[in-house]
Amino acid sequence: MGELTKPTSSRVIQAGESGFATTKFNELLAWARKYSLFQYPFVTACCAMEFMATASPRYDVARFGAEAPRFTPRQSDVLWVVGTISQRQAPILKRVYEQMTEPKWVIAFGTCASCGGFYDNYATLAGIDKVVPVDVYIPGCPPRPEAVLDGLLLLQDKIASMDTTPGVVKPRHDPAQNLVNLRRKTEDSAG
Ligand code: SF4
Repeated sequence: MGELTKPTSSRVIQAGESGFATTKFNELLAWARKYSLFQYPFVTACCAMEFMATASPRYDVARFGAEAPRFTPRQSDVLWVVGTISQRQAPILKRVYEQMTEPKWVIAFGTCASCGGFYDNYATLAGIDKVVPVDVYIPGCPPRPEAVLDGLLLLQDKIASMDTTPGVVKPRHDPAQNLVNLRRKTEDSAG
């Protein structure tokens, strides 16, 4: 197979539509890959609680075809690095990544995995991108399951569009927090 090229156009075929569609093999492959992600969870610390919450029925990561874990890197597509990584763990993480076959992707789950978090000391790795390439960073200590799902969707977009630049999950618009802010503002102006 030749070098992968970026798709130039895309169109969704609606239900009941007749006719035919053409596509490129690489685009079809990318579309299939984004919905069949086998994960390898490299879980070390407290972020694990939110990782498990994301897999629960309430958030239902299975909707995105990414629920099945594989406890060997050789059968995995996505390396989820969840939690703090110490300097001693770093070579093991790198080895796990190297054992995964191409194509493969890496998600930095939480602030510690993304940049070391508040562990500014000699024992902690200041971000997993010091030892493995990261495709998506999910900030938060820990990130909420909604942010984790945003990170997964961001990765799927990158896989479908063959975009290899790293992405960061942005804060969500939070209607509940907006209401609180509005109430405080009203109270301040009244008082
Ligand atoms: S980001 Fe926060 S919750 Fe996650 S591992 Fe680090 S300290 Fe724990």
